[in-house]
Amino acid sequence: MKARVLILGAGFGGLELATSLSEGLGEEVDVTLIDKGDSFVFGYSKLDVMFGRETAEAVRLPYAEFSKPGVRLLRETVLAIDPEARSVTTDAGVHEGDFLVVALGADYDMEATPGLAEGGNEFYSVAGAERLAELLPEFSGGRVVIGVCGAPFKCPPAPSEAALLLHDYLSDRGLRDDCEISFLMPLPSPVPPSPETSRALLEAFSDRDIAFYPGVRTHSLDPARNVVLTDNGDEVPYDLFLGVPKHRAPDVVIESGMAADGYVPVASETLETRFPGVYAVGDVAAVGVPKAGVFAEGAARVVAESLIARIRGGEGPSAYGGLGSCYIEFGSGQVGRVDVDFLSGPKPTGTFNEPSGALVAEKEHFGSSRRARWFGR
Ligand SMILES: Cc1cc2nc3c(=O)[nH]c(=O)nc-3n(C[C@H](O)[C@H](O)[C@H](O)COP(=O)(O)OP(=O)(O)OC[C@H]3O[C@@H](n4cnc5c(N)ncnc54)[C@H](O)[C@@H]3O)c2cc1C
Repeated sequence: MKARVLILGAGFGGLELATSLSEGLGEEVDVTLIDKGDSFVFGYSKLDVMFGRETAEAVRLPYAEFSKPGVRLLRETVLAIDPEARSVTTDAGVHEGDFLVVALGADYDMEATPGLAEGGNEFYSVAGAERLAELLPEFSGGRVVIGVCGAPFKCPPAPSEAALLLHDYLSDRGLRDDCEISFLMPLPSPVPPSPETSRALLEAFSDRDIAFYPGVRTHSLDPARNVVLTDNGDEVPYDLFLGVPKHRAPDVVIESGMAADGYVPVASETLETRFPGVYAVGDVAAVGVPKAGVFAEGAARVVAESLIARIRGGEGPSAYGGLGSCYIEFGSGQVGRVDVDFLSGPKPTGTFNEPSGALVAEKEHFGSSRRARWFGR
């Protein structure tokens, strides 16, 4: 009998895990990868869509093009997870595995921020970015507020990137002098593990007259009065609100009993949950690293090596290191990079690489190499 591996979620983590298992075991393993969607989209592509640099269609990578020996990808919605039995109920039936990996990411909780759906916009989903691509060209000036509705949230530099790209967008349209840009951030700095990166971003904000407010969480919006209400009790007037919605683990994960304090606790070295043979990787896991694709990918590689060792025998991998590099759009056609190390020392550290044209090419390669590895194009 072949070992059966069930992977829930074909996002950054699930795609990398299925690919690594296929590379390591080929037809020796029976991998079932389940996702409710029809395509994968890189997180950063949402910024490209929002500012009209790409269409949503152009950034979609259809799952129909994912084909790996030993892996079948099913388009089904996971409705229930039984971690004790390593079994999963979907809208199409029941699947069982010898190993189960939960890679279902984080969902957005729009209701957690009263007024956001009616009076604001979010740019963290493809649908939200598409709406903004239609709305932004109609914006003719005024107060733009970028607000984060809760932490943790995916890709901590992304709202900073949105502020800088918005500056470029409004400048290109000749509207920048008619606009104020304010950025409300619940964290104490733009990228807390890397003071150097935060300093560079603060300087970029100041050069562009973007007002940055650290330690301020968007609590709600009052669309009737066009004001943002913050946790500190302040009111910030806006004409256009661009929000990062509060995140939470998908309901099906919460209902499975696997989560504690909102996300799934795992052993940080192995990514295994308290249920034997059940792992969690990526945004759905609580492992002390940021919610970002590079971390989901790194965790998936460690789980793949563990599973290959468990299935074939042999040595398991060394402990998950919590290392990752994130590219940061600085606007004006420049990209910077921060290399972060979350788990090896007593506290997270980050090294900053100055924005440059070379890093624009490196970011492009980051995307195209994953596209080729997972989708063969
Ligand atoms: C604006 C923005 C910019 C970003 N920029 C970067 C960046 O530059 N670098 C970086 O590393 N990261 C970036 N990210 C973060 C990155 O996109 C995520 O952290 C990453 O995708 C997480 O991977 P994951 O595998 O945990 O989850 P995901 O990639 O979100 O995948 C989860 C999958 O589970 C599926 N799913 C969920 N519920 C169910 C269900 N019930 N049944 C079936 N399927 C289900 C979903 O359809 C989805 O495909 C960015 C994110 C955003 C929003």
